[in-house]
Amino acid sequence: MARMRKKADLPTKICVTCGKPFTWRKKWERVWDEVRYCSDRCRADAKRARPDAQS
Ligand SMILES: [Zn+2]
Repeated sequence: MARMRKKADLPTKICVTCGKPFTWRKKWERVWDEVRYCSDRCRADAKRARPDAQS
C-alpha cells in the first residue's frame, strides 16, 4: 500500500464513483481541479446513478 510513489510524484485523487485512486493525466492538465472521476465510464455511471449528486 505504501508503494505508490513511482510515477514521478504525479498528483492523485479518489474517484467519487468507484472509490479508487487515480493519477493525474496529461489530458486533465487544464481541468484537474474539476476532475472527480477516474474515467469517462465512472463519470457516466455517476450521472446515471445520482443525477443530482454533489455538483
Ligand atoms: Zn472510478
